[in-house]
Amino acid sequence: MKLLICGGAGYVGSHMVRYLTGQGHEAVVYDDLSTGHRQAVPREVAFVHGDIGDAARLARVFATQRFDAVIHFCAKSLVGESVGEPYAYYRNNVANTLVLLGAMRDADVDRLVFSSTAAVFGHPQAERIDESHPTAPINPYGQSKLMIEHVLADAAKAYGLRSVALRYFNAAGADPQGTIGEAHEPETHLIPNVLKAVLGQGAALNVFGDDYATRDGTCVRDYVHVNDLASAHLLAIEYLAGQPGAHRFNLGNGEGFSVREVIAAAERVTGKAVPHTIAPRRAGDPATLVASSALARAELGWEPRMVRLDDILASAWRWHREPAFG
Ligand code: UDP
Repeated sequence: MKLLICGGAGYVGSHMVRYLTGQGHEAVVYDDLSTGHRQAVPREVAFVHGDIGDAARLARVFATQRFDAVIHFCAKSLVGESVGEPYAYYRNNVANTLVLLGAMRDADVDRLVFSSTAAVFGHPQAERIDESHPTAPINPYGQSKLMIEHVLADAAKAYGLRSVALRYFNAAGADPQGTIGEAHEPETHLIPNVLKAVLGQGAALNVFGDDYATRDGTCVRDYVHVNDLASAHLLAIEYLAGQPGAHRFNLGNGEGFSVREVIAAAERVTGKAVPHTIAPRRAGDPATLVASSALARAELGWEPRMVRLDDILASAWRWHREPAFG
């Protein structure tokens, strides 16, 4: 298959591109490099420098090449930032996605896999969140992703667009080959910040809140390896070949770890202490988010491979010690 990977220079997107080419598919990356890295895209993969809000540029891409499907990773994705800058989130994640969807429709490309998020659920009302859990985002980031899920449901009815929204819980780790990894600037995510603290890069880790209603007072999250997310996207595209409509699946390992437990695991994996201090809660953070991925396993045949937290951390550690794209 030939696939357009919007946001293919970013963290999850670049792992997707490697995974697809490794499976014998052709990928074309479309990315504005606002947060992604040109070096994260292999030289042999075609690269278009563009913004998904640029209708003319997208129209040219779709006019000159035929794609079997689009995978859409382009987004602003920081919960805390979204609370302070909602317009930027709705413009990027909602308005620009509508431009991409319009360009796909004009070009008769009818399969899409969309990066969604556990943040569509808001405060969990169950120990494990499955697809029947109510959606009630508590921050603009989650709200922006949920809006597009609604758009996709309407687009399925009106235009026959086939789509899968994949709600990632906490994407983590790096390709074990060590040539790509998580490189955000500034870095806000827990695991990279834990490893940076180990490496003495910057100040000690801030633990955002230790007074949550969890087993040790720190937030609990479900960390899922980035290559396992990539495999789910390819399965989703294949699924859409036989399934019209708009579908949603939750992707996680089904086990939650607290911030303190992630710190302990990092100390086991690195053999070093993680310097950290307790800081105030971060705006927009729910106490616990853990997935049930039973539906993705049953419907897509998804089987995550790197499920142990220590293995996920070891893959991230390999990258953070030598974060060079190769
Ligand atoms: N976190 C933290 N210190 C950091 C970064 C994150 O304590 O430097 C906490 C954060 O408050 C949340 C969890 O770690 O409870 C995971 O945050 P992350 O930003 O990695 O992912 P999110 O859950 O926001 O998608």
